[in-house]
Amino acid sequence: MGFRTAFIGLGTMGYPMAGHLAKAGHQVTVYNRTAEKAAHWQQTHGGHTAATPAQAAQDAEFIFTCVGNDDDLRQVIAGTGGVFETAQTGSVIIDHTTTSAIVARELAEAAQQRGLFFIDAPVSGGQAGAQNGTLTVMAGGDPAAFARAEPVIRSFAASVKLIGPAGYGQLTKMVNQICITGLVQALSEGIHFAKHAGLDIALVMDVISKGAASSWQMQNRWQTMEKNEFNFGFAVDWMRKDLGIAMQEAQRNGSSLPVTKLVDGYYAEVQQMGGRRWDTSSLIARLEPPKKQ
Ligand code: NAP
Repeated sequence: MGFRTAFIGLGTMGYPMAGHLAKAGHQVTVYNRTAEKAAHWQQTHGGHTAATPAQAAQDAEFIFTCVGNDDDLRQVIAGTGGVFETAQTGSVIIDHTTTSAIVARELAEAAQQRGLFFIDAPVSGGQAGAQNGTLTVMAGGDPAAFARAEPVIRSFAASVKLIGPAGYGQLTKMVNQICITGLVQALSEGIHFAKHAGLDIALVMDVISKGAASSWQMQNRWQTMEKNEFNFGFAVDWMRKDLGIAMQEAQRNGSSLPVTKLVDGYYAEVQQMGGRRWDTSSLIARLEPPKKQ
């Protein structure tokens, strides 16, 4: 019959991830702050809904969370009506929110004091990865608890790796975001330059995507970027949250992120253009402003 699981946060990512848990045969109780989404999820996937995170967690062996930021996570885990109020000894909390490493370590320690386990497990792969069940999961936490959770996480992930102790999943996600940031700006500039040079962009992308300039972003986004279509999941607001977290961590560990800082400023400009919910490929809109309809 699978495991007894709880899923807290049915947003763009959580809703389909929880769906994959149910399809894999696990018993799922969902909680969402906006209750209609939880009711809709239950109509589609069965399972149960709960009125609070505490209620969702009370019988669960594995408790999944995927909310917005550090404070949201603290609230659903350690706040009033949160998971800590009811979670049973030995149960494993698996957090898929992108947060700071600080909150991950804080909650892992608080969980340990209660006889629980907390694994920070941010994801990469976007909305499509969540819908297709092919996410990449980078985790930090107790190895034995991770080993128990891994087969359950595999319900919605193609790759699941423990990187190190608490916080290491989040630190790895920061590297992921740092690597993407400069790359999307470079791709934007490449497309912008090609247009001004009078090149056939499709031909150019076809040729160079087979060489050293290739990237996931180039292969999957150049066509939509060229058309100023920015409705593909990961929002600029979320990216700025993630870059802020990475830049704060860089201050602590003494690393220097000049391109990340620069491009974060460009994303701030995209927000001012009305692009807060545009996806992150919208950096090109600064160079090639969308035509007014
Ligand atoms: P989203 O669509 O905005 O959903 C956020 C979810 O968190 C919603 O269910 C929301 O409830 C809930 N929530 C937020 N604050 C809460 C609070 N204080 N208490 C209870 N519930 C709260 O976001 P998303 O795109 O799924 O992203 C979720 C996390 O995954 C973020 O940390 C994001 O950075 C990360 N992530 C996203 C992507 C992506 O492509 N979207 C990719 C990788 C990682 P309501 O329904 O009531 O608003």
